[in-house]
Amino acid sequence: MPPGTEEYKWPLEYMARYPFLSGAKEYIKREAPPMDELLRDNLWGPVRKRGKDRVMESLENGRVKIRRIEDELEIENELFSYPIARMLVSSIGDNFLVRRYSLGEAERVVDELSREADDEKLIDLAKELGLRSEKDGENFKVFFAHYLENTEHLRSSEWKLTNLDLRKGNVYLERDRFVRLLKERIFSLIYLDLPAPVSDLILESLEKQIEDIKEVLEEKRKEIKDIDLGKVEDELFPPCIKYLLVSQQEGQNLSHESRFALTAFLRKVGLSEDGIISYFQESPDFDEQLASYQIEHIIGEISGTEYTPPGCSLMRTNGICFQPDSLCEQEWMSHPLTYYSFKKRKKAESEAEEKEKEEKEED
Ligand code: SF4
Repeated sequence: MPPGTEEYKWPLEYMARYPFLSGAKEYIKREAPPMDELLRDNLWGPVRKRGKDRVMESLENGRVKIRRIEDELEIENELFSYPIARMLVSSIGDNFLVRRYSLGEAERVVDELSREADDEKLIDLAKELGLRSEKDGENFKVFFAHYLENTEHLRSSEWKLTNLDLRKGNVYLERDRFVRLLKERIFSLIYLDLPAPVSDLILESLEKQIEDIKEVLEEKRKEIKDIDLGKVEDELFPPCIKYLLVSQQEGQNLSHESRFALTAFLRKVGLSEDGIISYFQESPDFDEQLASYQIEHIIGEISGTEYTPPGCSLMRTNGICFQPDSLCEQEWMSHPLTYYSFKKRKKAESEAEEKEKEEKEED
């Protein structure tokens, strides 16, 4: 154990695993080297590299990879790499990157927790995150108000009040759903704390890392923008988008995230503003003025920025990955647009095969 760490509530390894907790932040504040050394000294090069890797892994794979390390000084470096990652994300200040990074860290914790055999550790973490919970038999009981606070973005039916096991002010959850709740909490904790203010020292010292991340960020954006989707075929839409369309047409009040995902998706597959409105018009409480305003904002007519539809990870975080099917379960499935373009390609291939068969028969 590095000198001085005995006085902290949690072992260093725990703080490295959950660096967003207040105890870990306190440790970093007191024990990390002075800022100019951390940012410039060769000795701290590996810390800066790991900080950059955290951001890159979030961008490229949607999650920060877990590192299993034994050496205590390396564990401390792992902890110090967290503020470096935050500095990098804050220096770029892009909302897509902020979300992607926050989600990447939250996914890493889910991976950690799925390997955790001792359920009491989950309860301890929940407590540190400000959630009142206890183990009760096989389930986890969570104070009702804390459940509500952290599930407001989860709209699928399994999270609805009517489907809850609710007794004496507590909600009973299975382990997987309890972990999902912790993920929501962690995501918000990281996301709402970014971007942080950055100094010139940070911008100058991390210039190269910032440029590298920006490059990958642009590639990621381009990947989504460049998909040529051709004619709109709504029967090939992914299940989440079909579900949102039906909910909208049935007059259900969609969350902001749902409206955003739906509109940005419809835009990206090639619909004009009028085309999008024609889908929304079927809703019983359709308000054309309001719908136009919201659509114009999302497609960039008002803000000047055309927003990109969210990927599957973010859809899941927002609780709007509805009714995923077997195609959604493929390892490579990362975006509703990927789902749609895959289906379109498959359809075009089978139509071409069909045509070839017919031509042969005619010959
Ligand atoms: S996995 Fe992706 S494409 Fe499939 S339903 Fe969920 S968000 Fe939609």
